[in-house]
Amino acid sequence: MSFILQGIGVSEGVMIGRAHLAAPSALEVVHYLIPNNQVHNEIARLDNAFATVRKEFEMLQSSVTSGPALAEFSAFIDLHHMILDDPTLSEATRSSIEQTHCNAEWALTQQMEVLLEQFEAIEDAYLRERKTDVVQVVERVLKVLIGHPGYLPPASKHLGDSILVAHDLSPADMMQYKQHQFTAFLTDMGSMTSHTAIVARSLNIPSVVALHHARQLILEDDCLIVDGGRGIIIVNPDKCVLDEYRLWQRQLELEKRKLRRIKSIAAVTLDGAAIDLLANIELPEDLEQVKENGAAGIGLFRSEFLFLNRDDLPSEDEQFEAYRQVAEKMRGKPVTIRTFDLGADKSLKGSIQVAVNPALGLRAIRLSLSEPQMFQVQLRAILRASKYGQVRILVPMLSNLTEIDQTLHLIEMTKQGLRNERMSFDENIQVGGMIEVPAAAVCLEMFMQKLDFLSIGTNDLIQYTLAVDRVDDTVAHLYDPFHPAILWLVARVIQLANKARMPVTICGEMAGDIQFTRLLLGLGLKQFSMYPAQLLTVKSQILKSHLPDIMPLAQKIIKSDSPEKMRALLVRLNG
Ligand code: PEP
Ligand code: MG
Repeated sequence: MSFILQGIGVSEGVMIGRAHLAAPSALEVVHYLIPNNQVHNEIARLDNAFATVRKEFEMLQSSVTSGPALAEFSAFIDLHHMILDDPTLSEATRSSIEQTHCNAEWALTQQMEVLLEQFEAIEDAYLRERKTDVVQVVERVLKVLIGHPGYLPPASKHLGDSILVAHDLSPADMMQYKQHQFTAFLTDMGSMTSHTAIVARSLNIPSVVALHHARQLILEDDCLIVDGGRGIIIVNPDKCVLDEYRLWQRQLELEKRKLRRIKSIAAVTLDGAAIDLLANIELPEDLEQVKENGAAGIGLFRSEFLFLNRDDLPSEDEQFEAYRQVAEKMRGKPVTIRTFDLGADKSLKGSIQVAVNPALGLRAIRLSLSEPQMFQVQLRAILRASKYGQVRILVPMLSNLTEIDQTLHLIEMTKQGLRNERMSFDENIQVGGMIEVPAAAVCLEMFMQKLDFLSIGTNDLIQYTLAVDRVDDTVAHLYDPFHPAILWLVARVIQLANKARMPVTICGEMAGDIQFTRLLLGLGLKQFSMYPAQLLTVKSQILKSHLPDIMPLAQKIIKSDSPEKMRALLVRLNG
């Protein structure tokens, strides 16, 4: 049967392929078969994961030694310990691997589903509710398993046109899929500027999120058309529709090829203003795409992605290698390394999320300053890499001046340490701040006194200004980049920075959205940083823009007294 699903398109393009369903747990896993001679290794991997989680529970139990919550916490850990040791979980999973030769993650989630069904049938409400605990325990084991992948299926022809359909994917899950060959991603959950969506865009393949029931409605191997631009999924399309989309797919490919012709042309407006088009990256591997699209530098290296999907922290040398590689390969072009923005939806493996509102909690610079040793390891690595190119340090989520002072102090201490060891680095390395908390935008003059450059993180600026969780699809309709408050704040930051002759970039998703290109140019923005695949589209818009025409209209938009007028003027500006 053919039917259509509507979600939020987070990465453009059209893809036609076969559905591959991720497991129905909250923590998605893939399914593959293990060769005969690897089955015992797979079982050992499962046993090790159980043992690791057992140790984690023991550590947790011993970490709480006093306080009123002790008894409750102990009981909670005991219960999880019991679930973990229950043979209906571990033994049944082992025999499933033995009998069906499936991977451990899959076997475990299947067994979890069996247990959950049994819980559903329990009459006692308290016991029935314990199924949440089963899920939590299984998720812990899965996290360990996913961090220690064993045998992986060889790249098969079938995977080549597979479209992954999942209930939800974390940014860390998404990073793991970088190595897989899925051609599109669909999720029930998610929103436009969640980090999962951002990674999907950086993979440059069509993705649609917030589909709500796609994981239930789509069956394995269903034929799917993914229209990433419009956020539409057509399940089992008829031949007519399929032909039409194939034609459109070819047209899009042709347009992409045409765009490549402007790769080496400088991004200059019709009246001669030079614009810097920079790239956002997550890992050094992304440099290939950066080069392909002719970026003028790296405007945002989200260094925290080096910290995900692993049990340990990346060492100073490992980080240094990653930063050096990027600095060297960019050959003197600016490389802006953002210090780790961990917390909220990008947490370290094994860290227990206790914050009620993680996006407002110990995230980004707050976490860095609370872990000075870990922060200094990163600062040393960045400083050492600064010798190999034009490296800049960017500090995320600043909300007060003390954070800047403390960061600058730590940078100075780290520099002194390197000097004592006679290690060279760029003594004049620039330190910039992300303007993504409204407080920073409002008190910008004070912040500017202490910084060398600014980068506006519109993704978080929208989240924090409008009080809309950027990963929560139930409030996605309120996440509005066109909101007057956002446009005013962005205009204010650009204006004040330009007045003070301080370089300012936008590195949030707004920079790569051509609906905003002219408005931002008109407000005086000269540096845009975006995911590489958007660079040429934005460049083509810049090449067609004439600042003397658009500047007065941009000012009119900012000064207009209603959102409707703003939108109407924006349409005129882009027309
Ligand atoms: C932003 O908030 O706009 C930004 C660029 O940072 P991130 O999306 O990684 O939070
Ligand atoms: Mg941010």
